[in-house]
This record gives sequence, C-alpha cells and structure tokens, in this order.
Amino acid sequence: MQKIAIYPGSFDPITLGHIDIITRSSKIFDKIIVAITHNQKKQAFLDIDTKITLAKQSIDLENIEIVSFDNLLVDFAKEHNSCVILRGIRAVSDFEYEFALASMNKQLNREIETMFMIPREKYANISSTLVREISHFNGDISKFVPPAVSGYLQTIS
Ligand code: ADP
Repeated sequence: MQKIAIYPGSFDPITLGHIDIITRSSKIFDKIIVAITHNQKKQAFLDIDTKITLAKQSIDLENIEIVSFDNLLVDFAKEHNSCVILRGIRAVSDFEYEFALASMNKQLNREIETMFMIPREKYANISSTLVREISHFNGDISKFVPPAVSGYLQTIS
C-alpha cells in the first residue's frame, strides 16, 4: 500500500521553507499531497487558484500532487487514503497552535497521525506573513520564495 502524506497549509504564498519540507518529505513517502486552503483565521492575500498555480510552477517532483481543500482535514486525509498529516515547526511560537491542532485532529480520527518536520536552518525564519510584508514595501523577497512567486508578486505590487 502506498504511503501518502498530506501537507496542509495556506501557502499564501508558498515559500522556500515550504518547498524544503515538501522536497525532504517526498523522499520518505510515496506521495505528498500539498493541500492548499484558506485559513479561516487569516485574511487571504492570494486567491486559491493563484496559490495553486504558483505552487505547481515551483515544485518539480514526480510524487507530489497539489490540490485545494475546503473540508475537515481528517476527512480530506481519509478521502485520499492518507494516514499522515505533515506540519512544520519553526520555533516555540509555532508549537502551541500545532500541538492543539494535532491533538484535536487525533480526537477526530484516531487513525491519522500528525508528523512534524523542522526546517533547515537557512529557512527557519521564513514565513509567508513576512514575505507578504516585505513584498508590500517592494523589498527583495528572492531569497525567501521560489522565482515564480517573486516574479508574480512583483507584477502585483
Ligand atoms: P497555516 O496557515 O496552516 O499555518 P502555512 O502555509 O503558514 O499554513 O504553513 C503550513 C505549514 O508549514 C505549517 O505547519 C507551518 O508551520 C509550516 N511552515 C511554514 N513556513 C515554514 C518554514 N519556513 N519552514 C518549515 N515549516 C514551515
């Protein structure tokens, strides 16, 4: 049976930190489903179709699928025959939210495990939020995001 992991997030926009997690996890699992959603807590910057297009342009790996999702994460995982949810933890500040999310998901479906990866050091401080802020002031974001993203953000800023 294929080992499939879901990597869910807002990816608003996708950064080199996300790509690093996707690339490294793609060597461990048979398939990674990058599941792009609108985070209810955050006001979306890019629309979902743009986020998907930019992710597709930025990832060149065979065993990756990029999709949008709009339902309960554990249900989405089950529908896609995945029993692993992948998340990244950059710093202690991520921990509290990620811990709550993982334990709620565990209570919703006992068969699904959440696994955490930490970023490579050079990507540890990259966040989509900071990328959006730097881009808003026309700063150079090319060290933090793939070329498709920096190119696109330049056209809209
Ligand atoms: P969400 O809004 O669901 O937190 P994000 O797109 O911000 O979505 O992040 C998706 C996942 O990737 C989260 O688990 C987040 O902690 C992780 N992540 C974000 N940036 C990085 C990074 N630079 N390195 C490692 N993990 C990251």
